[in-house]
Amino acid sequence: MKNPLVTGHEARDIQKQVAKLLRDLGNPEPPLSLDVVRDRLDLDRQYYDSSDQSFVRETVHAIKVAGKQILKRPTLLWDVIRTSDLRALWLPDSKRILIDQELPLLKHRWAEGHEIGHAITPWHAEYLMGDAEAELSPACFATIEAEANYACGQLLFLQDRFVEEMMSMPLSIDSVKRLKEEFGNTYTSTLWRMIEEYRGSKPVVGIVSVHPVHLNNEFNPDDPCRYVIQSPRFRDLFASVTEVELFGTLQSYCNSRKGGPLGEADVVLSDVNGERYEFHFETFFFHYQALSLGVCQRKLNKSALIRRQSAG
Ligand SMILES: [Zn+2]
Repeated sequence: MKNPLVTGHEARDIQKQVAKLLRDLGNPEPPLSLDVVRDRLDLDRQYYDSSDQSFVRETVHAIKVAGKQILKRPTLLWDVIRTSDLRALWLPDSKRILIDQELPLLKHRWAEGHEIGHAITPWHAEYLMGDAEAELSPACFATIEAEANYACGQLLFLQDRFVEEMMSMPLSIDSVKRLKEEFGNTYTSTLWRMIEEYRGSKPVVGIVSVHPVHLNNEFNPDDPCRYVIQSPRFRDLFASVTEVELFGTLQSYCNSRKGGPLGEADVVLSDVNGERYEFHFETFFFHYQALSLGVCQRKLNKSALIRRQSAG
């Protein structure tokens, strides 16, 4: 799955909302405390147990009292929880964020930031108020989800603060580790932000996947990457590179270690015009997933290729 883009005035509006919120909080130092954010926005957080029917019924009841949209459709929340793989939700009327307590602890911060993202994006309330007539189309749903993730990324990484720090560091897994510690977010979200916020001219790609050597049960050879994160230049120039090809690249150099660094290599990728470029790739494995970063080093001209061939 390649990262969906949020651009144009939607992106600018979200940036403005996050900037205002951070200003109101006195431009805090990382890591950002979400308790402080919720306090400022007057939002409530609750955990729910999606397997506990009586709890869900109680919650539905409480929301029925609090929210007019649920009054119109008393089973809305229950349906949403039961029929989707939803792990968190935001209820505009009752200013409440609900998080599934079964969600792994590591993911709570992003889930909560995502729901705060909905809460501060002005046009989301009208979509998520659950107007009985207007069901969200899947495409529309994907757009507002991408926008909530964008807002979450802006918030948890403190906008320019993160950009300035990452641009002063080399693009490497080592920098991902340092920024992860400083901003208090996950490896995956840190890698994601690093590539999306990269302001330089090099094409850059990140891949989140299973271990490239120890393929587990969830591995699907036709859809081998959990996420592929592309910098704007990579998206333009390497649209022809498939996820299967990228995963094959990782398999070409990764070792079989069960944790830590899995290796690095210089590999060649061809762009949409068939021009060849050298990338430096490196992969790190932790918590059941492999994070890979590929940074373009240079375009290979024909004479360089011939030299490489004769040298090899
Ligand atoms: Zn959402």
